[in-house]
Amino acid sequence: HAAPPPARKRTATVTDTAPSPAFPRIAVVLFTADLRVHDHPPLRAAHDSADAVVPLFVRDPAVDRAGFAAPNRLAFLADCLADLDRSLRERGGRLVMRSGDTVAEVCRIARQTGADEVHVSAGPTAFARARELRLRRALEADGRRLYAHDGVGSVVPPGEVAPQGSGHYAVFTPYFRRWADRPARTPLAAPRALRVPPEPRSDPLPSRAGVPGVSAGLAAGGETEARRRLRSWLSRSLDAYEERHDVLDDRAGHGTSRLSPYLHFGALSPVEAVHRARARGGAGAEAFVRQLCWRDFHQQVLAARPDAARADYRPGRGVWRSGREAERDLRAWRAGRTGYPLVDAGMRQLAHEGWMHNRARLVTASFLTKTLLLDWRDGARHFLDLLADGDVANNQLNWQWVAGTGTDTRPNRVLNPVRQAQRYDPDGAYARRWLPELAGLAAPAVHEPWRLTGLDRAAYDYPDPLVPLADGLARFRAAHDAA
Ligand code: FAD
Repeated sequence: HAAPPPARKRTATVTDTAPSPAFPRIAVVLFTADLRVHDHPPLRAAHDSADAVVPLFVRDPAVDRAGFAAPNRLAFLADCLADLDRSLRERGGRLVMRSGDTVAEVCRIARQTGADEVHVSAGPTAFARARELRLRRALEADGRRLYAHDGVGSVVPPGEVAPQGSGHYAVFTPYFRRWADRPARTPLAAPRALRVPPEPRSDPLPSRAGVPGVSAGLAAGGETEARRRLRSWLSRSLDAYEERHDVLDDRAGHGTSRLSPYLHFGALSPVEAVHRARARGGAGAEAFVRQLCWRDFHQQVLAARPDAARADYRPGRGVWRSGREAERDLRAWRAGRTGYPLVDAGMRQLAHEGWMHNRARLVTASFLTKTLLLDWRDGARHFLDLLADGDVANNQLNWQWVAGTGTDTRPNRVLNPVRQAQRYDPDGAYARRWLPELAGLAAPAVHEPWRLTGLDRAAYDYPDPLVPLADGLARFRAAHDAA
């Protein structure tokens, strides 16, 4: 990760003029999971050091093959790219879009424009790191330089906060203490003006309308929307975050920020989110910043243990059922037909919005892995198929945390979906909202519809529980004792 090149004094800001001998220095900025203009270290460095900048996004089939090509994320991505292009145009630039192998496309564009430097954000995944290495080698073979900027997708780059004698923290709280003590960098302003060479040509940008199979309630993507949400969240809801973040029925949208998809695509800078929350202060801000730290925590685990995207972080703890009955249970869980209203409501929210409340993620994941004793990988795959914020580090490592194969210090904790519903959805509004077939039931009956009898039970077209909770718990304990 080379230091950025020294800034040169800028003499002019002209739009779309051909590179001339007076403005010879050209830099490519490769956008990846950092689709914004505010607090964007690679864009800022390129703007400060070069006379003209080529903002580039490459739609790479290898990213799809790595599991990215889910409709909700492709639609959200399309919104983000359109918004980024608008922001660049407002500053005199534009986004150049290409399809193909990222390394080949970046090298081609660098050659076409005569760019001698390329700026990119360093990514935490094995995929991003392998791509960066290939890109560096290819550019250097061509006599060009790659600058990979840390601290774009996280507040603290993986590896920068580490315990003595070990590469990463395996427990959140000590990590958080060190993380919170570290002085945070100040967010960078967006460049006011950009100069882009007329070449290279751009492929058309994708549009959300062109993506089939998108969830009807998926939020709009893009940096403009992210910044609007952040402003409104900080001013209207942050103060109540500590008390309200677990309340499941959050129709007004004040309980949690719903910023996760914007953070995932880098439409919002985590450094800026932390900075602005801290500037407001208070218990809500502290709790929110602590939650943002989980992203960094998981990124540093994944950077140190890239295999944890698929393999158990702590091997030997997972005991999973298989066979016909297990497959039937998995199908019922995916469809939101397990017979437990809180679990089913969460799964239906996921299908409808491409997002699920964190409390519901915890309960649905615990139910799959501990009550049904099904492999966390099957659950994580389904979440990745639907979540707009679906993220290798956060998804896989949160799944492992719940499944007991990851970093949770209490791996045998099993969440009871009825007690969780009574606590976090006391009047049953969340269950009724997502399960229209139970809309006529008040709490407490809506949390346990199987207790109804006779005609009352027959009035509700809703399945009986896949397994009684006591039996599920006994099965979990027996399997783990045997293991
Ligand atoms: P807020 O409560 O407003 O929190 C603010 C931000 O902090 C979030 O936007 C998110 O970026 C971060 N954050 C909060 N909790 C966590 C956490 N436990 N781990 C990591 N970051 C966190 N989050 C994802 O971003 N992508 C995923 O793919 C993902 N998969 C998950 C799978 C499971 C099984 C579980 C239990 C959790 C998962 N989470 C994931 C974490 C969390 O549920 C979401 O980040 C959160 O629900 C997003 O809603 P929000 O933006 O309103 O969160």
